[in-house]
Amino acid sequence: MSNESLANLLKEERRFAPPAELAAAANVTAAAYAQASEDRLGFWAEQARRLDWAVEPTETLDWSNPPFAKWFADGKLNVAYNCVDRHVEAGNGDRIAIHFEGEPGDSRSITYAQLKDEVSQAANALLELGVTKGDRVAVYLPMIAEAVVAILACARIGATHSVVFGGFSADAVASRITDAQAKLVITADGGYRRGKPSALKPAIDEALTKVDGVEHVLVVRRTGQDTSWTEGRDVWWHEITARQSTEHTPEAHEAEHPLFILYTSGTTGKPKGILHTSGGYLTQASYTHHAVFDLKPETDVYWCTADIGWVTGHSYIVYGPLANGATQVIYEGTPDTPHQGRFWEIVQKYGVTILYTAPTAIRTFMKWGDDIPAKFDLSSLRVLGSVGEPINPEAWIWYREHIGAGKAPIVDTWWQTETGAMMISPLPGVTETKPGSAQRALPGIAATVVDDEAREVPNGSGGYLVLTEPWPSMLRTIWGDDQRYIDTYWSRFEGRYFAGDGAKKDEDGDIWLLGRVDDVMLVSGHNISTTEVESALVGHPSVAESAVVGATDATTGQAIVAFVILRGTATETPELVEELRAHVGRTLGPIAKPKQVKVVGELPKTRSGKIMRRLLRDIAEGREVGDTTTLADSTVMNLIQSQLPPAGSEG
Ligand code: ATP
Ligand code: MG
Repeated sequence: MSNESLANLLKEERRFAPPAELAAAANVTAAAYAQASEDRLGFWAEQARRLDWAVEPTETLDWSNPPFAKWFADGKLNVAYNCVDRHVEAGNGDRIAIHFEGEPGDSRSITYAQLKDEVSQAANALLELGVTKGDRVAVYLPMIAEAVVAILACARIGATHSVVFGGFSADAVASRITDAQAKLVITADGGYRRGKPSALKPAIDEALTKVDGVEHVLVVRRTGQDTSWTEGRDVWWHEITARQSTEHTPEAHEAEHPLFILYTSGTTGKPKGILHTSGGYLTQASYTHHAVFDLKPETDVYWCTADIGWVTGHSYIVYGPLANGATQVIYEGTPDTPHQGRFWEIVQKYGVTILYTAPTAIRTFMKWGDDIPAKFDLSSLRVLGSVGEPINPEAWIWYREHIGAGKAPIVDTWWQTETGAMMISPLPGVTETKPGSAQRALPGIAATVVDDEAREVPNGSGGYLVLTEPWPSMLRTIWGDDQRYIDTYWSRFEGRYFAGDGAKKDEDGDIWLLGRVDDVMLVSGHNISTTEVESALVGHPSVAESAVVGATDATTGQAIVAFVILRGTATETPELVEELRAHVGRTLGPIAKPKQVKVVGELPKTRSGKIMRRLLRDIAEGREVGDTTTLADSTVMNLIQSQLPPAGSEG
């Protein structure tokens, strides 16, 4: 059935050629694919020259001890210098690096020259606090410009940062501080969310009752709310940075120097501390940002709506755009504060040309209604990006029509915390895009789809997504656990990186992501992906969002259980539930018809907006709900449980 449903998606043959104007002036053309496939390492060596090296690397890849890679190992560079100073030295100090837009409406624009001063002062402050190269620093901040400054200050002095999402609980913070053995924590009194100040420091104070080794807490004053204070330990950011020199000479660090640790979202299980290093990471972050968004630093205004606590915030707010000298927007708050048009108002205010967001946000905007973006001038937008989950064709088309005026190309970018940067994506000036498909590995990247026996599947078939060659921004290990690194990523298929995602190749060989393989359902001997059933449900006019899981079933192996959120205008009736089941049956075939459709008010999501299906599976199978530490809102699970009859009482 899976192939049938894919055929269904494709039969409308919606293909969108790149706009001619964009294609004519594109940063990267089709020639890049040929060049990279002829000489992959030569291609990456060339991309590394996008950066300024204190010591030029002569080696590209050392793969003598797989799966432990070294890229550009004899080179030395300073990552922060590459993201800031060199743009000032090139005469672009007056260019805006960051337009910061606070949730309450305050705003501040920071030039590259100002950013250089602020990063230097923060680097000097870290040194005064006894932080040196090789130390770890935990960062627990809202979406404010100081988050970027703090991260770059760490990179500048060679301290390894571990950013922990500002919404995580004290326990989640404590376990990450302990795992990384951080010496310093950088936080804020609070940040603005949903129209009011939301405290951050109490979580750090609580976390620090459970961990040892943290010498100081550096506190940014954002909201001015009352904040408890531990004398001798706590230091105000504005006080210590104000007395520092704006001069700091960046030291060159080895290309393989640890740049950051970042924990995965925890969608599939306990978060893993992913380690990224410097030269290879920055090369790929910079190249992909240049190629996939077609960034023209002199004229574009770029906005990535991700949080700094997520890998997208690292690679496509901090490192990629700043390495490329981009002008970007950073927004602190939620999309519905003070009104549901806030994002579009920001696009209009700054003339945003490139927007990078997540399918979950796009579906929310669809739910709120077409009339909201229609009130704003979005004509500046020329490239639209998507990341985080498979984007269903319905949402893709809506994004193109209502945000991109029916002409901005959409780049659906597949990658992971582990891959560090984009891996599979259209190129906006090259690719004929297909709604719902990430399409093709980027130049220099080798991806394919294999079956259980590691055989590459033919076009038109599905299986497991694997990466067949090392890439510059790949994770180097799981922090402190080399064996878990080998076991998790390199053991399922000999010599290949297993991403954990299911995928399909269509008749053209284009890749369609199908969600986590852990989420694939086996119903009466047929593999059915959650993505396809969810996509079918969202294709029904009454459904705003859905999450589908397979629950153990005595007769069929697994039974499909669908959780749906209805659109504003629809109400739950037994007839509607029956209609939704029938709709899936009609779209995908009778085997994919959900056994149960449960209408709920919310879905469990991570802070990055990904649905945590494993928690829904726990509910569907009547188990106690597993690790919820990375849920955006921990009350959601109670709410869902209270809305549902106990497991097994319907069917
Ligand atoms: P954990 O590994 O702890 O379960 P996670 O996988 O959600 O968490 P991330 O690294 O943030 O953590 O997410 C990467 C995953 O997100 C990919 O493996 C894939 O499942 C999904 N993903 C990201 N972008 C896309 C995309 N464009 N299309 C389809 N899936 C995507
Ligand atoms: Mg993952």
